[in-house]
Amino acid sequence: MSRAKYIFVTGGVTSSLGKGIIAASLAKLLQAQNFRVTIQKFDPYINVDPGTLNPYEHGECYVTDDGAETDLDLGHYERFLNVNTSQANNVTTGRVYQSVIEKERQGKFLGKTVQVIPHITNEIKERMCLLGNTGEYDIVITEIGGTVGDIESLPYIESVRQLIWDLGRENALVIHLTLIPYLAAAGELKTKPTQHSVKTLMESGISADIIVCRTEHDLSEDLKEKLALFCNVKPEAIIESIDVDTIYDVPIKMLAEGLDKVVLNKLKLKPKKPLDLSSWEAFLKKYKNPKHKVKIGLIGKYVELQDSYKSILESLIHAGAINEIEVDVVSIHSEHITDSTVALELNNLEGIIVAPGFGERGIEGKIKAIAYARENKIPFLGICLGMQMAVIEYARNKVGLTHANSTEMNPNCEHPVIDLMESQKSIINKGGTMRLGAWDCHLETESLAHQVYGTNKISERHRHRYEFNNEYFSKVFDTDFKVAGTNPETGLVEIVENKKHPWFVGVQFHPEYKSTVSNPHPLFTAFIKASLLHQNNSQK
Ligand code: GLN
Repeated sequence: MSRAKYIFVTGGVTSSLGKGIIAASLAKLLQAQNFRVTIQKFDPYINVDPGTLNPYEHGECYVTDDGAETDLDLGHYERFLNVNTSQANNVTTGRVYQSVIEKERQGKFLGKTVQVIPHITNEIKERMCLLGNTGEYDIVITEIGGTVGDIESLPYIESVRQLIWDLGRENALVIHLTLIPYLAAAGELKTKPTQHSVKTLMESGISADIIVCRTEHDLSEDLKEKLALFCNVKPEAIIESIDVDTIYDVPIKMLAEGLDKVVLNKLKLKPKKPLDLSSWEAFLKKYKNPKHKVKIGLIGKYVELQDSYKSILESLIHAGAINEIEVDVVSIHSEHITDSTVALELNNLEGIIVAPGFGERGIEGKIKAIAYARENKIPFLGICLGMQMAVIEYARNKVGLTHANSTEMNPNCEHPVIDLMESQKSIINKGGTMRLGAWDCHLETESLAHQVYGTNKISERHRHRYEFNNEYFSKVFDTDFKVAGTNPETGLVEIVENKKHPWFVGVQFHPEYKSTVSNPHPLFTAFIKASLLHQNNSQK
Protein backbone atom coordinates (compact mmCIF):
# COMPACT_ATOMS: atom_id res chain seq x y z
CA MET A 1 0.00 0.00 0.00
CA SER A 2 0.97 3.57 -0.67
CA ARG A 3 3.47 5.35 1.57
CA ALA A 4 2.05 8.79 0.87
CA LYS A 5 -0.71 10.51 2.83
CA TYR A 6 -3.78 11.59 0.92
CA ILE A 7 -5.89 14.73 1.00
CA PHE A 8 -9.10 14.75 -1.01
CA VAL A 9 -10.71 18.05 -1.92
CA THR A 10 -14.41 18.00 -2.76
CA GLY A 11 -16.76 20.87 -3.56
CA GLY A 12 -20.27 21.67 -2.43
CA VAL A 13 -23.09 24.18 -2.93
CA THR A 14 -21.87 25.51 -6.28
CA SER A 15 -19.16 25.04 -8.84
CA SER A 16 -16.37 27.55 -9.53
CA LEU A 17 -15.47 28.02 -5.85
CA GLY A 18 -11.80 27.58 -6.61
CA LYS A 19 -10.96 24.09 -5.36
CA GLY A 20 -7.85 24.20 -7.52
CA ILE A 21 -6.59 27.38 -5.85
CA ILE A 22 -7.31 26.01 -2.36
CA ALA A 23 -5.54 22.76 -3.24
CA ALA A 24 -2.57 24.65 -4.71
CA SER A 25 -2.42 27.01 -1.71
CA LEU A 26 -2.43 24.16 0.77
CA ALA A 27 0.23 22.38 -1.27
CA LYS A 28 2.31 25.56 -1.18
CA LEU A 29 2.09 25.71 2.63
CA LEU A 30 3.09 22.06 2.91
CA GLN A 31 5.89 22.48 0.40
CA ALA A 32 7.12 25.45 2.44
CA GLN A 33 7.58 22.98 5.33
CA ASN A 34 9.62 20.67 3.12
CA PHE A 35 6.95 18.10 2.33
CA ARG A 36 7.10 16.63 -1.17
CA VAL A 37 3.62 17.34 -2.47
CA THR A 38 1.79 16.72 -5.70
CA ILE A 39 -1.73 17.55 -6.77
CA GLN A 40 -3.96 15.60 -9.11
CA LYS A 41 -7.34 16.38 -10.55
CA PHE A 42 -10.15 13.95 -11.36
CA ASP A 43 -12.69 15.40 -13.76
CA PRO A 44 -16.13 13.83 -14.06
CA TYR A 45 -16.72 14.55 -17.75
CA ILE A 46 -16.64 11.92 -20.48
CA ASN A 47 -14.11 13.57 -22.78
CA VAL A 48 -10.92 11.52 -22.54
CA ASP A 49 -9.05 14.78 -22.00
CA PRO A 50 -9.93 18.46 -22.39
CA GLY A 51 -7.91 18.70 -25.63
CA THR A 52 -11.02 18.46 -27.77
CA LEU A 53 -12.98 20.99 -25.72
CA ASN A 54 -13.74 24.49 -26.92
CA PRO A 55 -12.14 27.01 -24.50
CA TYR A 56 -15.63 28.41 -23.82
CA GLU A 57 -16.45 25.11 -22.06
CA HIS A 58 -13.78 24.84 -19.37
CA GLY A 59 -11.29 27.57 -20.27
CA GLU A 60 -7.78 26.97 -21.51
CA CYS A 61 -6.36 23.53 -22.16
CA TYR A 62 -3.08 23.28 -20.25
CA VAL A 63 -0.19 21.19 -21.60
CA THR A 64 2.44 19.36 -19.57
CA ASP A 65 6.01 18.46 -20.52
CA ASP A 66 4.96 14.89 -21.28
CA GLY A 67 2.36 16.15 -23.72
CA ALA A 68 -0.81 15.69 -21.70
CA GLU A 69 -3.66 18.05 -22.57
CA THR A 70 -5.11 18.82 -19.17
CA ASP A 71 -7.46 20.90 -17.06
CA LEU A 72 -6.28 24.43 -16.39
CA ASP A 73 -6.03 23.73 -12.66
CA LEU A 74 -2.80 21.86 -13.39
CA GLY A 75 -1.46 25.22 -14.51
CA HIS A 76 -2.22 26.62 -11.06
CA TYR A 77 -0.47 23.67 -9.43
CA GLU A 78 2.68 24.21 -11.48
CA ARG A 79 2.63 27.98 -11.05
CA PHE A 80 2.23 27.73 -7.27
CA LEU A 81 4.59 24.83 -6.64
CA ASN A 82 7.14 25.24 -9.43
CA VAL A 83 7.08 21.48 -10.01
CA ASN A 84 6.06 19.66 -13.17
CA THR A 85 2.85 17.72 -13.47
CA SER A 86 2.20 14.96 -16.00
CA GLN A 87 -0.45 12.84 -17.65
CA ALA A 88 -1.00 11.03 -14.35
CA ASN A 89 -2.07 14.26 -12.62
CA ASN A 90 -5.29 14.64 -14.59
CA VAL A 91 -7.80 11.84 -15.05
CA THR A 92 -11.27 12.10 -16.59
CA THR A 93 -14.24 9.75 -16.54
CA GLY A 94 -13.65 9.25 -20.25
CA ARG A 95 -10.12 7.99 -19.63
CA VAL A 96 -11.25 5.72 -16.79
CA TYR A 97 -13.99 4.12 -18.90
CA GLN A 98 -11.70 3.88 -21.92
CA SER A 99 -9.19 1.90 -19.95
CA VAL A 100 -11.79 -0.35 -18.26
CA ILE A 101 -13.41 -1.08 -21.63
CA GLU A 102 -10.02 -1.86 -23.19
CA LYS A 103 -9.32 -4.32 -20.34
CA GLU A 104 -12.75 -5.89 -20.86
CA ARG A 105 -12.00 -6.36 -24.59
CA GLN A 106 -8.71 -8.02 -23.66
CA GLY A 107 -10.63 -10.44 -21.46
CA LYS A 108 -8.94 -9.20 -18.32
CA PHE A 109 -12.06 -9.46 -16.17
CA LEU A 110 -12.27 -13.24 -16.67
CA GLY A 111 -15.91 -13.42 -17.63
CA LYS A 112 -17.22 -11.22 -14.83
CA THR A 113 -19.96 -8.65 -15.36
CA VAL A 114 -18.13 -5.31 -15.56
CA GLN A 115 -19.78 -2.76 -13.27
CA VAL A 116 -19.30 0.73 -11.87
CA ILE A 117 -18.56 -0.87 -8.50
CA PRO A 118 -16.02 -2.46 -8.31
CA HIS A 119 -14.49 -2.13 -11.79
CA ILE A 120 -14.77 1.59 -12.44
CA THR A 121 -14.08 2.43 -8.79
CA ASN A 122 -11.04 0.11 -8.76
CA GLU A 123 -9.68 1.84 -11.84
CA ILE A 124 -10.23 5.24 -10.17
CA LYS A 125 -8.58 4.09 -6.92
CA GLU A 126 -5.61 2.70 -8.79
CA ARG A 127 -5.15 6.01 -10.59
CA MET A 128 -5.64 7.95 -7.36
CA CYS A 129 -2.74 6.01 -5.79
CA LEU A 130 -0.46 5.99 -8.83
CA LEU A 131 1.62 9.03 -7.89
CA GLY A 132 1.55 8.25 -4.17
CA ASN A 133 2.93 4.77 -4.90
CA THR A 134 6.01 6.10 -6.69
CA GLY A 135 7.64 6.99 -3.38
CA GLU A 136 8.34 10.47 -4.72
CA TYR A 137 5.72 12.21 -2.59
CA ASP A 138 4.88 12.56 1.09
CA ILE A 139 1.45 14.00 0.39
CA VAL A 140 -0.88 13.67 -2.58
CA ILE A 141 -3.71 16.17 -2.87
CA THR A 142 -6.57 14.95 -5.05
CA GLU A 143 -9.13 17.41 -6.30
CA ILE A 144 -12.47 15.94 -7.33
CA GLY A 145 -14.01 18.08 -10.07
CA GLY A 146 -17.69 19.04 -9.95
CA THR A 147 -19.97 19.36 -6.94
CA VAL A 148 -21.05 16.62 -4.52
CA GLY A 149 -24.47 15.34 -5.37
CA ASP A 150 -23.78 15.45 -9.13
CA ILE A 151 -24.60 12.15 -10.80
CA GLU A 152 -21.24 12.22 -12.59
CA SER A 153 -19.12 12.53 -9.46
CA LEU A 154 -20.68 9.56 -7.66
CA PRO A 155 -18.06 6.97 -8.71
CA TYR A 156 -15.29 9.31 -7.54
CA ILE A 157 -16.94 9.97 -4.19
CA GLU A 158 -17.47 6.24 -3.73
CA SER A 159 -13.81 5.60 -4.61
CA VAL A 160 -12.72 8.17 -2.02
CA ARG A 161 -14.91 6.46 0.58
CA GLN A 162 -13.33 3.09 -0.17
CA LEU A 163 -9.81 4.51 -0.28
CA ILE A 164 -10.12 6.22 3.09
CA TRP A 165 -11.18 2.86 4.48
CA ASP A 166 -8.23 1.11 2.79
CA LEU A 167 -5.68 3.76 3.82
CA GLY A 168 -6.90 4.38 7.36
CA ARG A 169 -8.11 7.67 8.83
CA GLU A 170 -4.63 8.78 9.83
CA ASN A 171 -3.46 8.58 6.26
CA ALA A 172 -6.27 10.32 4.45
CA LEU A 173 -8.55 13.26 5.00
CA VAL A 174 -11.28 15.13 3.20
CA ILE A 175 -11.47 18.88 2.76
CA HIS A 176 -14.87 20.08 1.63
CA LEU A 177 -15.03 23.50 -0.01
CA THR A 178 -18.37 25.26 0.19
CA LEU A 179 -19.96 28.66 -0.13
CA ILE A 180 -21.42 30.70 2.72
CA PRO A 181 -23.77 33.06 0.90
CA TYR A 182 -24.45 36.55 2.21
CA LEU A 183 -28.07 37.67 2.11
CA ALA A 184 -27.82 41.41 1.70
CA ALA A 185 -31.48 42.06 2.58
CA ALA A 186 -31.11 40.19 5.87
CA GLY A 187 -27.52 41.34 6.37
CA GLU A 188 -26.61 37.76 7.23
CA LEU A 189 -24.26 34.97 6.22
CA LYS A 190 -26.15 31.70 5.79
CA THR A 191 -24.79 28.28 6.74
CA LYS A 192 -27.68 26.08 5.58
CA PRO A 193 -26.35 25.30 2.07
CA THR A 194 -23.09 24.13 3.69
CA GLN A 195 -24.95 21.98 6.20
CA HIS A 196 -26.86 20.36 3.35
CA SER A 197 -23.81 19.76 1.26
CA VAL A 198 -21.89 18.20 4.16
CA LYS A 199 -24.94 15.99 4.70
CA THR A 200 -24.95 14.96 1.04
CA LEU A 201 -21.33 13.94 1.43
CA MET A 202 -22.23 11.93 4.53
CA GLU A 203 -24.95 10.09 2.66
CA SER A 204 -22.14 8.77 0.49
CA GLY A 205 -20.30 7.59 3.58
CA ILE A 206 -17.76 10.41 3.78
CA SER A 207 -17.47 12.79 6.68
CA ALA A 208 -15.54 15.95 5.87
CA ASP A 209 -12.57 16.55 8.18
CA ILE A 210 -12.09 20.18 7.26
CA ILE A 211 -14.57 22.64 5.79
CA VAL A 212 -13.23 25.55 3.81
CA CYS A 213 -15.87 28.25 3.46
CA ARG A 214 -15.78 30.71 0.58
CA THR A 215 -17.30 33.94 1.79
CA GLU A 216 -17.54 37.64 0.99
CA HIS A 217 -17.55 38.57 4.70
CA ASP A 218 -15.62 37.41 7.75
CA LEU A 219 -17.12 34.44 9.57
CA SER A 220 -17.76 35.16 13.25
CA GLU A 221 -16.63 32.71 15.95
CA ASP A 222 -20.32 31.99 16.61
CA LEU A 223 -20.93 31.09 13.02
CA LYS A 224 -17.84 28.85 12.97
CA GLU A 225 -19.06 27.09 16.09
CA LYS A 226 -22.51 26.62 14.65
CA LEU A 227 -21.07 25.16 11.46
CA ALA A 228 -18.74 22.91 13.45
CA LEU A 229 -21.66 21.61 15.50
CA PHE A 230 -23.81 20.81 12.49
CA CYS A 231 -21.02 19.43 10.36
CA ASN A 232 -19.22 17.14 12.85
CA VAL A 233 -15.91 18.97 12.87
CA LYS A 234 -13.97 20.97 15.44
CA PRO A 235 -14.27 24.80 15.17
CA GLU A 236 -10.60 25.04 14.15
CA ALA A 237 -11.40 22.83 11.16
CA ILE A 238 -13.79 25.47 9.83
CA ILE A 239 -11.53 27.53 7.60
CA GLU A 240 -12.61 30.88 6.26
CA SER A 241 -11.68 31.61 2.67
CA ILE A 242 -12.59 35.22 2.15
CA ASP A 243 -12.58 36.78 -1.33
CA VAL A 244 -9.20 38.31 -2.09
CA ASP A 245 -7.81 40.56 -4.81
CA THR A 246 -5.41 38.00 -6.18
CA ILE A 247 -5.24 34.21 -6.09
CA TYR A 248 -1.65 34.60 -4.91
CA ASP A 249 -2.97 35.90 -1.57
CA VAL A 250 -4.79 32.65 -0.87
CA PRO A 251 -1.79 30.74 0.60
CA ILE A 252 -1.23 33.64 3.00
CA LYS A 253 -4.90 33.62 4.02
CA MET A 254 -4.88 29.84 4.47
CA LEU A 255 -1.79 30.14 6.62
CA ALA A 256 -3.48 32.75 8.81
CA GLU A 257 -6.47 30.41 9.17
CA GLY A 258 -4.18 27.55 10.16
CA LEU A 259 -5.25 25.19 7.38
CA ASP A 260 -1.82 23.56 7.19
CA LYS A 261 -1.75 22.98 10.96
CA VAL A 262 -5.15 21.28 11.01
CA VAL A 263 -4.11 19.12 8.07
CA LEU A 264 -0.79 18.06 9.60
CA ASN A 265 -2.49 17.34 12.91
CA LYS A 266 -5.10 15.13 11.32
CA LEU A 267 -2.49 13.27 9.29
CA LYS A 268 -0.24 12.93 12.35
CA LEU A 269 2.63 14.64 10.57
CA LYS A 270 5.20 17.02 12.01
CA PRO A 271 6.59 19.92 9.91
CA LYS A 272 9.89 18.89 8.35
CA LYS A 273 11.20 22.42 8.82
CA PRO A 274 9.76 25.74 10.03
CA LEU A 275 7.48 27.16 7.39
CA ASP A 276 9.25 29.53 5.03
CA LEU A 277 7.17 31.56 2.59
CA SER A 278 9.68 34.41 2.22
CA SER A 279 10.10 34.16 -1.55
CA TRP A 280 6.33 34.00 -2.03
CA GLU A 281 5.93 37.08 0.16
CA ALA A 282 8.68 38.87 -1.75
CA PHE A 283 6.80 38.16 -4.99
CA LEU A 284 3.54 39.49 -3.51
CA LYS A 285 5.25 42.62 -2.26
CA LYS A 286 6.61 43.42 -5.71
CA TYR A 287 3.32 42.53 -7.36
CA LYS A 288 1.37 44.85 -5.07
CA ASN A 289 3.80 47.76 -5.17
CA PRO A 290 4.58 48.36 -8.83
CA LYS A 291 6.70 51.31 -9.83
CA HIS A 292 5.42 51.49 -13.39
CA LYS A 293 2.44 50.45 -15.43
CA VAL A 294 2.21 49.19 -19.01
CA LYS A 295 -0.79 48.54 -21.20
CA ILE A 296 -0.64 45.25 -23.07
CA GLY A 297 -3.18 44.22 -25.71
CA LEU A 298 -4.10 40.55 -25.73
CA ILE A 299 -5.63 39.78 -29.08
CA GLY A 300 -7.61 36.60 -29.41
CA LYS A 301 -11.01 35.29 -30.27
CA TYR A 302 -12.02 33.83 -26.90
CA VAL A 303 -11.46 37.05 -24.97
CA GLU A 304 -14.97 37.09 -23.46
CA LEU A 305 -13.89 34.29 -21.14
CA GLN A 306 -10.82 35.18 -19.07
CA ASP A 307 -10.09 31.51 -18.39
CA SER A 308 -9.40 30.93 -22.10
CA TYR A 309 -6.02 32.60 -21.79
CA LYS A 310 -5.37 31.80 -18.13
CA SER A 311 -1.69 30.87 -18.44
CA ILE A 312 -0.88 33.93 -20.55
CA LEU A 313 -2.55 36.23 -18.02
CA GLU A 314 -0.71 34.58 -15.13
CA SER A 315 2.61 34.73 -17.01
CA LEU A 316 2.08 38.47 -17.42
CA ILE A 317 1.50 38.78 -13.67
CA HIS A 318 4.75 36.92 -12.94
CA ALA A 319 6.68 38.96 -15.51
CA GLY A 320 5.16 42.21 -14.25
CA ALA A 321 5.92 41.44 -10.62
CA ILE A 322 9.57 40.64 -11.18
CA ASN A 323 9.97 43.92 -13.08
CA GLU A 324 7.83 45.82 -10.55
CA ILE A 325 5.54 46.79 -13.38
CA GLU A 326 1.76 46.60 -13.23
CA VAL A 327 0.51 44.96 -16.39
CA ASP A 328 -2.82 46.32 -17.51
CA VAL A 329 -4.15 43.73 -19.96
CA VAL A 330 -6.60 45.00 -22.55
CA SER A 331 -8.42 42.07 -24.12
CA ILE A 332 -9.24 42.74 -27.73
CA HIS A 333 -11.43 40.55 -29.87
CA SER A 334 -9.61 39.86 -33.12
CA GLU A 335 -12.91 40.03 -35.03
CA HIS A 336 -13.21 43.66 -34.00
CA ILE A 337 -9.96 44.63 -35.70
CA THR A 338 -10.53 45.94 -39.20
CA ASP A 339 -8.80 48.53 -41.40
CA SER A 340 -10.96 51.24 -39.91
CA THR A 341 -10.61 50.18 -36.25
CA VAL A 342 -7.05 48.92 -36.00
CA ALA A 343 -5.38 52.23 -35.09
CA LEU A 344 -8.14 53.12 -32.66
CA GLU A 345 -7.97 49.75 -30.91
CA LEU A 346 -4.18 49.52 -30.72
CA ASN A 347 -2.66 52.98 -30.66
CA ASN A 348 -2.43 53.35 -26.89
CA LEU A 349 -0.87 49.93 -26.30
CA GLU A 350 2.72 49.49 -25.17
CA GLY A 351 2.89 45.82 -26.12
CA ILE A 352 0.82 43.45 -28.24
CA ILE A 353 0.32 39.71 -27.79
CA VAL A 354 -1.43 37.69 -30.45
CA ALA A 355 -2.84 34.63 -28.77
CA PRO A 356 -2.90 30.97 -29.78
CA GLY A 357 -5.99 29.61 -31.46
CA PHE A 358 -7.59 27.33 -33.98
CA GLY A 359 -9.63 27.90 -37.12
CA GLU A 360 -10.37 30.77 -39.42
CA ARG A 361 -12.53 33.04 -37.29
CA GLY A 362 -10.84 36.33 -36.47
CA ILE A 363 -7.51 35.65 -38.16
CA GLU A 364 -7.60 38.62 -40.54
CA GLY A 365 -7.92 40.88 -37.48
CA LYS A 366 -4.87 39.20 -35.97
CA ILE A 367 -2.88 39.80 -39.15
CA LYS A 368 -3.89 43.49 -39.16
CA ALA A 369 -2.83 43.82 -35.53
CA ILE A 370 0.55 42.28 -36.31
CA ALA A 371 1.07 44.65 -39.25
CA TYR A 372 0.25 47.54 -36.91
CA ALA A 373 2.71 46.30 -34.27
CA ARG A 374 5.42 45.78 -36.88
CA GLU A 375 5.00 49.15 -38.57
CA ASN A 376 4.61 51.14 -35.37
CA LYS A 377 7.44 49.33 -33.60
CA ILE A 378 5.24 48.22 -30.71
CA PRO A 379 6.74 45.23 -28.83
CA PHE A 380 5.09 42.11 -30.17
CA LEU A 381 4.85 38.54 -28.93
CA GLY A 382 3.04 36.06 -31.18
CA ILE A 383 2.24 32.72 -29.58
CA CYS A 384 1.67 29.61 -31.70
CA LEU A 385 -1.11 30.77 -34.05
CA GLY A 386 0.21 34.28 -33.29
CA MET A 387 3.59 33.32 -34.72
CA GLN A 388 2.00 31.66 -37.74
CA MET A 389 0.03 34.85 -38.42
CA ALA A 390 3.21 36.93 -38.07
CA VAL A 391 4.76 34.84 -40.84
CA ILE A 392 1.68 35.29 -43.04
CA GLU A 393 1.65 39.04 -42.37
CA TYR A 394 5.27 39.41 -43.43
CA ALA A 395 4.84 37.17 -46.47
CA ARG A 396 1.82 39.15 -47.64
CA ASN A 397 2.86 42.69 -46.82
CA LYS A 398 6.64 42.69 -47.17
CA VAL A 399 7.53 39.78 -49.44
CA GLY A 400 4.62 40.35 -51.81
CA LEU A 401 3.03 36.90 -51.54
CA THR A 402 -0.40 38.53 -51.44
CA HIS A 403 -2.27 35.27 -51.06
CA ALA A 404 -0.02 33.71 -48.44
CA ASN A 405 -2.00 31.80 -45.85
CA SER A 406 -2.11 28.73 -43.65
CA THR A 407 -3.72 25.61 -45.08
CA GLU A 408 -5.66 25.47 -41.81
CA MET A 409 -7.57 28.54 -43.00
CA ASN A 410 -7.51 27.88 -46.74
CA PRO A 411 -6.44 24.39 -47.83
CA ASN A 412 -6.05 25.52 -51.44
CA CYS A 413 -4.25 28.80 -50.88
CA GLU A 414 -1.70 29.93 -53.46
CA HIS A 415 1.16 30.29 -50.99
CA PRO A 416 0.83 27.86 -48.07
CA VAL A 417 3.56 29.42 -45.92
CA ILE A 418 2.03 27.60 -42.96
CA ASP A 419 1.12 24.01 -43.69
CA LEU A 420 0.19 20.78 -41.97
CA MET A 421 3.22 18.99 -40.56
CA GLU A 422 4.20 15.96 -42.63
CA SER A 423 3.59 13.68 -39.63
CA GLN A 424 0.06 15.09 -39.30
CA LYS A 425 -1.10 14.40 -42.85
CA SER A 426 -2.33 10.85 -42.24
CA ILE A 427 -3.89 11.57 -38.85
CA ILE A 428 -7.68 11.43 -38.71
CA ASN A 429 -8.46 11.35 -34.99
CA LYS A 430 -8.55 14.74 -33.29
CA GLY A 431 -7.89 13.74 -29.65
CA GLY A 432 -4.30 13.79 -28.39
CA THR A 433 -2.80 13.79 -31.89
CA MET A 434 -1.22 17.24 -32.19
CA ARG A 435 2.49 17.91 -31.74
CA LEU A 436 2.32 18.01 -27.98
CA GLY A 437 4.57 18.57 -25.01
CA ALA A 438 8.22 19.49 -24.60
CA TRP A 439 10.46 19.76 -27.66
CA ASP A 440 13.98 21.07 -27.87
CA CYS A 441 14.80 24.24 -29.70
CA HIS A 442 18.21 25.47 -30.79
CA LEU A 443 18.65 29.24 -30.65
CA GLU A 444 20.74 31.29 -33.11
CA THR A 445 23.59 33.04 -31.31
CA GLU A 446 22.86 36.46 -32.79
CA SER A 447 19.17 36.36 -31.93
CA LEU A 448 17.09 38.32 -29.45
CA ALA A 449 15.80 34.97 -28.17
CA HIS A 450 19.35 33.92 -27.34
CA GLN A 451 19.86 37.13 -25.43
CA VAL A 452 16.55 36.66 -23.60
CA TYR A 453 17.11 33.02 -22.61
CA GLY A 454 20.84 33.37 -22.06
CA THR A 455 21.51 29.96 -23.62
CA ASN A 456 21.27 28.33 -27.03
CA LYS A 457 19.36 25.20 -26.07
CA ILE A 458 15.87 25.44 -24.67
CA SER A 459 12.88 23.15 -24.28
CA GLU A 460 9.32 24.45 -24.57
CA ARG A 461 5.84 22.99 -24.68
CA HIS A 462 3.87 22.66 -27.89
CA ARG A 463 0.31 22.14 -29.04
CA HIS A 464 -0.17 22.52 -32.78
CA ARG A 465 -0.68 20.67 -36.06
CA TYR A 466 0.61 23.29 -38.49
CA GLU A 467 4.12 24.65 -38.92
CA PHE A 468 6.14 27.02 -41.05
CA ASN A 469 6.45 25.44 -44.49
CA ASN A 470 10.20 25.15 -45.04
CA GLU A 471 9.69 25.20 -48.83
CA TYR A 472 9.13 28.92 -48.35
CA PHE A 473 12.21 29.42 -46.19
CA SER A 474 14.30 31.43 -48.63
CA LYS A 475 11.30 33.34 -49.96
CA VAL A 476 9.93 34.52 -46.61
CA PHE A 477 13.03 35.00 -44.49
CA ASP A 478 15.49 37.74 -45.32
CA THR A 479 17.96 39.93 -43.51
CA ASP A 480 15.19 41.57 -41.47
CA PHE A 481 12.78 38.73 -40.84
CA LYS A 482 14.76 35.83 -39.41
CA VAL A 483 14.49 32.43 -37.87
CA ALA A 484 15.88 32.59 -34.34
CA GLY A 485 15.15 29.03 -33.21
CA THR A 486 14.64 25.63 -34.79
CA ASN A 487 13.99 22.12 -33.59
CA PRO A 488 17.34 20.30 -33.96
CA GLU A 489 15.85 16.96 -35.09
CA THR A 490 13.21 18.09 -37.54
CA GLY A 491 14.33 21.54 -38.64
CA LEU A 492 10.88 22.91 -37.74
CA VAL A 493 10.88 26.67 -37.28
CA GLU A 494 10.25 27.47 -33.62
CA ILE A 495 10.99 31.20 -33.33
CA VAL A 496 10.87 34.11 -35.77
CA GLU A 497 12.12 37.63 -35.16
CA ASN A 498 12.13 40.95 -36.97
CA LYS A 499 15.51 42.69 -36.79
CA LYS A 500 14.08 46.00 -38.01
CA HIS A 501 11.93 46.14 -34.93
CA PRO A 502 12.97 46.71 -31.30
CA TRP A 503 11.12 43.64 -29.97
CA PHE A 504 9.23 41.41 -32.37
CA VAL A 505 9.15 37.70 -31.51
CA GLY A 506 6.88 34.91 -32.71
CA VAL A 507 7.08 31.49 -31.09
CA GLN A 508 5.56 28.25 -32.32
CA PHE A 509 5.48 26.96 -28.74
CA HIS A 510 3.64 28.07 -25.62
CA PRO A 511 5.98 29.84 -23.17
CA GLU A 512 2.96 30.57 -20.94
CA TYR A 513 2.80 26.95 -19.78
CA LYS A 514 6.18 27.22 -18.11
CA SER A 515 5.98 30.49 -16.21
CA THR A 516 5.73 30.09 -12.43
CA VAL A 517 5.76 32.46 -9.46
CA SER A 518 9.33 31.54 -8.57
CA ASN A 519 10.42 31.22 -12.18
CA PRO A 520 8.80 33.86 -14.40
CA HIS A 521 9.28 33.05 -18.07
CA PRO A 522 12.19 34.96 -19.67
CA LEU A 523 10.22 35.75 -22.84
CA PHE A 524 7.37 37.38 -20.92
CA THR A 525 9.81 39.12 -18.61
CA ALA A 526 11.76 40.58 -21.53
CA PHE A 527 8.56 41.48 -23.40
CA ILE A 528 7.25 43.48 -20.43
CA LYS A 529 10.61 45.24 -20.07
CA ALA A 530 10.54 46.10 -23.77
CA SER A 531 7.00 47.44 -23.39
CA LEU A 532 8.12 49.77 -20.62
CA LEU A 533 10.99 50.94 -22.79
CA HIS A 534 8.54 51.58 -25.62
CA GLN A 535 6.44 53.66 -23.22
CA ASN A 536 9.47 55.69 -22.14
CA ASN A 537 10.55 56.27 -25.74
CA SER A 538 7.09 57.33 -26.86
CA GLN A 539 6.86 59.85 -24.03
CA LYS A 540 10.11 61.55 -25.04
N1 GLN B 1 -4.08 26.21 -35.08
C1 GLN B 1 -2.67 26.26 -35.14
C2 GLN B 1 -2.05 24.88 -35.33
O1 GLN B 1 -2.65 23.88 -35.08
C3 GLN B 1 -2.10 26.91 -33.91
C4 GLN B 1 -2.39 26.16 -32.64
C5 GLN B 1 -2.21 26.99 -31.40
O2 GLN B 1 -2.19 28.21 -31.44
N2 GLN B 1 -2.10 26.32 -30.25
O3 GLN B 1 -0.92 24.77 -35.71
